[in-house]
Amino acid sequence: MLSKTELMKKVEQLTAEVDYYRSEFNKVADENGYTLALTAAQEGIWDWKLDQDELFYSDQWKAQLGYGPDQIKNEFLTFQNLLHPTDYGRVHRELKQYLNYPEGQFQISFRMRHKDGTYRWIQNRGVSIKNKKGKAIRIFGTHTDITEQVRAEQALQDSNQKLKTVISEAHVILFSLDKNGVFTFADGKSLISLGISPDELVGYSVFESKMNHPHIVESVSKALNGEFVRTVIEINGLFFDTTYSPMKNSAGEVESVIGVSSNITDHLKLEKKIKTTNLELAKAKVKAEESDRLKSAFLANMSHEIRTPMNSILGFSDLLRYTDNPAERDEYIDIIARNGEVLLTLLNDILDLSKIEGSQLPIKPTTVDVFELMSELEQVYSAKLKKLVKPGLEFKVEWPSGIKKLHITTDRTRLFQVLVNLIDNAIKFTDKGFVVFGCEILESTARFYIKDTGIGIKKSDLSFIFERFGQVRGPFDGKYSGSGLGLSISKKLVELLGGNLTVESKIDHGSEFSFSLPLMAKIMRKPYNRIITGISNKLNDKTILIVEDVDSSRILIERLLAPLNVHVISASNGEDALKLCQKNNDINLVLMDLKLPKMSGFEATTQIKKLNKNIYVIAQTALAFDYDKQKSIDCGCDDYLTKPIKHKSLMSTISKYLC
Ligand code: ADP
Repeated sequence: MLSKTELMKKVEQLTAEVDYYRSEFNKVADENGYTLALTAAQEGIWDWKLDQDELFYSDQWKAQLGYGPDQIKNEFLTFQNLLHPTDYGRVHRELKQYLNYPEGQFQISFRMRHKDGTYRWIQNRGVSIKNKKGKAIRIFGTHTDITEQVRAEQALQDSNQKLKTVISEAHVILFSLDKNGVFTFADGKSLISLGISPDELVGYSVFESKMNHPHIVESVSKALNGEFVRTVIEINGLFFDTTYSPMKNSAGEVESVIGVSSNITDHLKLEKKIKTTNLELAKAKVKAEESDRLKSAFLANMSHEIRTPMNSILGFSDLLRYTDNPAERDEYIDIIARNGEVLLTLLNDILDLSKIEGSQLPIKPTTVDVFELMSELEQVYSAKLKKLVKPGLEFKVEWPSGIKKLHITTDRTRLFQVLVNLIDNAIKFTDKGFVVFGCEILESTARFYIKDTGIGIKKSDLSFIFERFGQVRGPFDGKYSGSGLGLSISKKLVELLGGNLTVESKIDHGSEFSFSLPLMAKIMRKPYNRIITGISNKLNDKTILIVEDVDSSRILIERLLAPLNVHVISASNGEDALKLCQKNNDINLVLMDLKLPKMSGFEATTQIKKLNKNIYVIAQTALAFDYDKQKSIDCGCDDYLTKPIKHKSLMSTISKYLC
């Protein structure tokens, strides 16, 4: 039992202690600005008496997390349970640290689970009351819901990040300048592509920085004077569409300039390409229309070109029936043959053109004796000119001077074809004066030329005449025949031979067509063809089968073979031909047409070769393309003859296999 004095002393001591803690509390509360206003400010309050392990959460504290006053217990476990698992460790660590050194304010943010399951960001501030030994015996503080603030900060951070990414990734340059023209900001992928880093600009005046191009300086000066400027500038070969926008304050003074430059180099390139493509398309359209027009003209022309000789052929064939006069017959036959040649030339022209355009015209170079070729042409045209009624026209040949021999490596047939076409034209378009055909050595080329004193060609038509079906007609309409294909074929052929066909001409004075071919290395001559003599004697025990469905063609071959001492049989389709070969072991050679009824010549050849591979099969075809020839060889044909079949080639082919 304490005495009264002792009791009084104890009361005094306790009172002093209470006073101490009260003053301590007030001190802390005042120092940290905590007042009852906290409650009014919607902040939750917590108070943790550490020595008694008593914890108090204000109603507001609980309400922040969606709970009523009695829905959660006033204990540390409540706090622990509601704390976000990720924040748990950090909060504990920092709390422990504070309790070890309870100086100043304990401040930390963390997430707590709301009753609705979402997490809220809470900012916690606390202070401690210490005993005389400095140990915290009570902490109390506030909880502020800062979820919205955190979200706003996060959103701001995100949008800043996005903006930064956009600026640095977009093919633009963004920049701002202050009122003195000093860069305050510069960024953008295009800046990097110019090899300039933002640091090289920011802080520098546009008038002295790397971007001091006269164009930029001028535009910035205008913008600083309040003008909006848009312009395209070129820096290091790149083009930028740039805007300079003056930013004014409320007094209307320019405070800064914002600039945006977009790299439009690719765009400009594309635009240029589109323009070129459009131009090409327009040209192609004109060309297509022109080609269409030329084709229609060609068809009309062709119809005329075919009808004229056909008319003669049919007319004179008819007359032949009714005349017994040998002289007349000979004349008619001559006319028919001549017109047949005209038709054949026309056909060959069309075939050549289609082969050239399909890149199917093979060039077969051999060593060509130019003197021999020229003398052949001289003979041909001297004879031809005698037949023409052009008394005032002379044909001359000019030989390469100073040399006796000239060999070039080229395709003789094609060279011959070009020269014939050019000389034919020269004679056709010249009534009096001369036509000169010549060759001269120019450096390492042989230059062939054909000069005439004919009607000449207008300058504006000089390129047109080389186009397909391109013909200059006018006052002479109808006077000159021709398909308009010769020059375009000749030009392409000369190109295939390695030259270039050109023309110089003056209207009413004449023209000169010329081209040069390289004098290439000599190549071996082809073996000399066997001379066919006395074939007939060697064929007396041989049998030839003609397979041909067109009577006139069959009769022609029969007539050609008639002088030979050979047994001839015939079939009009592939099936019959095969049957004859099965029955008749004496057949040595078959002249096989390829386009046949019932069974094609290709199929019949395959079957005949299966039956007896010793029977020679020679294809005779009007299919003049190389792939038809190749196909016939693939089917087993030993050789082929192109229709119309010439006496000489028929004889040499037969002798090659049967003699
Ligand atoms: P074609 O002679 O069949 O009409 P070409 O292609 O050989 O066709 O010639 C085309 C056109 O070029 C001729 O129609 C003619 O207008 C002109 N031409 C060609 N050669 C001569 C020439 N020597 N003199 C005048 N005009 C020519």
